Amino acid sequence: MIKKIVDFFKKNYTNIFFIFIIFFGFAATYALAVPKVVRIKAKIVNVRTGPMLSYNVIGQLKSDEQIPILQEKNGWYLVRLNGDKLGWIASWLTDATEIDSAIKTTGVINTNQTNVRLYSNTNSPIIKILNQGDKINIVYSKSSWSQIIIDGKVGWVNNRLFDLTDDSSNNNENTLNNAYVLEPNTKIHQNPDLNSPVLKSLKQREKLKVIGTQGNFYKIKDAQSTEGYVISKFVTTEIPKPITIYRPKSLAQTTIVIDAGHGGNDPGAQANNGRHYEKKYTLLVARELKAKLAQRGVKVIMTRDDDNSVKLEDRVLMTNQVRPNAFISLHLDSSPQANQAEGITTYYYSRKDDLPLAQSISTQFKHLKTTNRGVAFGNYEVLRDSFYPSILIELGYINNDHDFTLIKKPYYREQLTSKIVDGLANYFK
Ligand SMILES: [Zn+2]
Repeated sequence: MIKKIVDFFKKNYTNIFFIFIIFFGFAATYALAVPKVVRIKAKIVNVRTGPMLSYNVIGQLKSDEQIPILQEKNGWYLVRLNGDKLGWIASWLTDATEIDSAIKTTGVINTNQTNVRLYSNTNSPIIKILNQGDKINIVYSKSSWSQIIIDGKVGWVNNRLFDLTDDSSNNNENTLNNAYVLEPNTKIHQNPDLNSPVLKSLKQREKLKVIGTQGNFYKIKDAQSTEGYVISKFVTTEIPKPITIYRPKSLAQTTIVIDAGHGGNDPGAQANNGRHYEKKYTLLVARELKAKLAQRGVKVIMTRDDDNSVKLEDRVLMTNQVRPNAFISLHLDSSPQANQAEGITTYYYSRKDDLPLAQSISTQFKHLKTTNRGVAFGNYEVLRDSFYPSILIELGYINNDHDFTLIKKPYYREQLTSKIVDGLANYFK
């Protein structure tokens, strides 16, 4: 039974506002590196208050979103979300290779005695004075101010006081990122401002080179070398390759992630006797399944191997890093009333990637001593967010006396795990 955990995570989202407030107080103290832009590769990437999985989630980014990174630490990127919030994302869920060096925004100060301020207003303290010709790295821009990095600190400069420049590496056309016009009649503006003169109108699908970003604009160059600014949402950079699902032709060549549901302070569903919990039996079955698969030459990865709490999203992250050929989550079901329901259900999320695996395994359950409830669509986080063929098996109802008696017996678990192995062997051939 997994629905309860999902609800638990949903409820905890109400704490996010507190986390924002606490975190944003520290944000200004971060020393930032030269900015680069990364593209989100995973379907959903959680933004956290710190550079580790154990930090709280404060927001999410979706596949294909592009976001400038402000700092890198232990494989994590510091990013800025809408509304100036800062948070960390796992670098392995982004694709930094394409845009990496392409969108690096630099500028040159055009006025002597230019004040760099702590905040984006003229009343805030001056942290540095720059002169004409001084170079700056721009991390973020909004209507009339840009945030820059100066002496390892973050400061703000009014947009009138500098001009954007091409970084020397960006003068090489090959390092520029291609972009294509999405919206017909997209205008090239002289400045990153909709009120600035229009230099040109672009046709849909026209190819552009992206030189830099400023606020909601890309600085671009078109095929005729017209340079100017377009609204970034009106163009798209090239779509990254989709993840290819490789199905080996023999079980022995596979890597399989086994996910024992619940664990630690999350016991899962309860048996009718009130003394036994789901987490114990999911782990027992997981270990027995692991042993069987290992005998067949499978490389098995467990999301937990003892009585530990592992967050759902961490189970997914782990899986997406391992890139397995299959992911199998094991649970025991529970009905609202004791002995109301019995049997095994095999859940899938993606019809294309998960359903064939679910069917291959579910069909093996027909001669077991409980009902085979077949396959069903299940909108579970561990299925939804994993990129690889994934299923979740509710191995029986823990609050059904018949099912629970079976699951406690080693000989029955032996049959059950043999059936799962048979289903996998049929799927990989
Ligand atoms: Zn469960």
